[in-house]
Amino acid sequence: MKNISRYKDNIRRKILIVEDEMINRQLLGFIVSKEYDVVYAENGMEALKILRTKNHGISLVLLDLLMPIMSGFVVLERIKDDPNLKRIPVIVLTSEKYAEVKSLQMGAQDFIPKPYDMPDVILARIKRAIELFEDTNLIRNTERDSLTGLFTKRYFFEYIRQYEEYQGAIPMDAVVLNIRRFHMINEIHGHAYGDYLLSHVAKALKSLLNDYEGIVCRTDSDTFYLFFEHQEEIEKTLNDNVLTTINKEFVGINVGLRVGIYQNVTSRMDIEDIFDRALHACNGLRNNYKDVYAYYDESMHNKEIYDERLLAQFDDALDKGQFMVYYQPKYNIKGDEPRLTSAEALVRWNHPEYGLISPGVFIPLLEDNGLIQKLDRFVWNGAAEQAHIWNVKYNFQLPISVNVSRVDIYDQQLESTLLDIVHLHHIEPKQLLLEITESAYTNDAKGIINSIKHLRADGFKIEMDDFGTGYSSLNMVSNLPIDVLKIDREFIIHMCTSDKDKKMVEILLNISDLLGVSVVAEGVETKEQFDMLKKMGCDIIQGFYFSKPLPADQFAKLIEEEVKNSGHN
Ligand code: C2E
Ligand code: CA
Ligand code: CA
Repeated sequence: MKNISRYKDNIRRKILIVEDEMINRQLLGFIVSKEYDVVYAENGMEALKILRTKNHGISLVLLDLLMPIMSGFVVLERIKDDPNLKRIPVIVLTSEKYAEVKSLQMGAQDFIPKPYDMPDVILARIKRAIELFEDTNLIRNTERDSLTGLFTKRYFFEYIRQYEEYQGAIPMDAVVLNIRRFHMINEIHGHAYGDYLLSHVAKALKSLLNDYEGIVCRTDSDTFYLFFEHQEEIEKTLNDNVLTTINKEFVGINVGLRVGIYQNVTSRMDIEDIFDRALHACNGLRNNYKDVYAYYDESMHNKEIYDERLLAQFDDALDKGQFMVYYQPKYNIKGDEPRLTSAEALVRWNHPEYGLISPGVFIPLLEDNGLIQKLDRFVWNGAAEQAHIWNVKYNFQLPISVNVSRVDIYDQQLESTLLDIVHLHHIEPKQLLLEITESAYTNDAKGIINSIKHLRADGFKIEMDDFGTGYSSLNMVSNLPIDVLKIDREFIIHMCTSDKDKKMVEILLNISDLLGVSVVAEGVETKEQFDMLKKMGCDIIQGFYFSKPLPADQFAKLIEEEVKNSGHN
């Protein structure tokens, strides 16, 4: 052990500094480079790219929290979500107490306060974090997982690389098995029971390999990788050998598995890429409780390529004006005649090759990469500018709602960004409604409520989007500082045919009544739905029943009509 420590002390380790401001970057680099090699990233995207490129051998990340493009919190979250990166210690750079606690909760090792006026303290903190990290790694990097006796992932991949027969001589199947809601089982039945379940799954997989050529490992607590000779009837093989044995042993607790499969890997593709694909298929089952098995296939691969292409083109597309803001009207239906009361700004990508792409396709991609903030700012600006144009032209102040992605909410500059936008375009904050999806609240209720309070104090109105899908508790909802609830389209679609959904809409209307906030029903398509909602006392309706989202010039006709009918002007 002593020898190892001495050896360890002699190598210069590499540190990644992620900091957008040049002065800070240089200052910190100057301090740190006395004892370490330094790699720099100017933003979060670049940092993730460096970390994900193999063999960079980064020992520690110094991460600024306030950065454009992708905030440090998002970078931290990505690192901690990535099985290959999550163990790299991260020290955050911040000047805010609130951010310190939050980042520690998110898995940061430590923090360094700004400004950087105590070089010795900084170096000491870095040294300690690295030592801690390397000691746990020494223990971790043994060949076998102590709980199940299976290989660790690292050795699993090593072995496969070494063995000729796995490298294309015979067709093999790659399988990723994950235990559904394992953390719940742990919580409800205790960790010992959870451990017992894991060893049992391991045992079943090992005995499967008595009959078939292959190798198995456990990766992150409840995930197993299996690489074995190709099975024509793989579901049957796994059912007979794994699922039934588990269900027999754990009667009454209903252990669910999700299994991703990538079959017939005969090529000399890198084994980690092969398992990435099987894992991809497995993760696709996260919200699908109906199916146990999912296969990686060419269409998934094509989708990945398509997604990557869109991401790579994003910046250029934004510069070239390929993104357009459409507007969908919301009508107040309380009186005899429906009245235009506001609009929702919805973005579209007019792609030169693929045509009009719906946000449902590209928004999730951009959210995953932090690019969404850039797009949202573009949309907010566009909507505010448009609002002003209509204010002047029609002397009619139509409130416009914009979507605020969950990534935006963590951005500490959100408030100032929005204030800048309304000032720039000479509109009042109250003319901008901010739609925030319900599930964002449930992730980090306290932090979000806090930023929302500030926004409301500035005069912005807040709508809770997709209400009913985010599983907030009634108790939480009653404490939320919001102005409008939007009932999700999911409930509206079936409300005329399903009693359950009708009941649900009634309940949601009652809740909003109780809270004294108004309600928007979204996705209303038919007269039947319209009539039913009106009868139930719903205030505001958005949906194809009135209009699809329209380009600004077409939407202007709706304003003209409204102005004419209301006797404005
Ligand atoms: P959302 O916020 O729930 O927006 C409502 C979606 O429902 C829109 O889809 C709208 O076109 C659609 N819709 C409205 N009425 C009807 C109807 O009667 N029937 C049907 N079938 N659909 C209706 P869209 O424009 O495709 O947007 C999808 C989602 O993408 C939005 O869901 C929102 O979450 C996101 N999104 C759109 N624009 C932006 C944006 O600028 N920023 C961010 N962060 N997200 C955006
Ligand atoms: Ca919305
Ligand atoms: Ca919605």
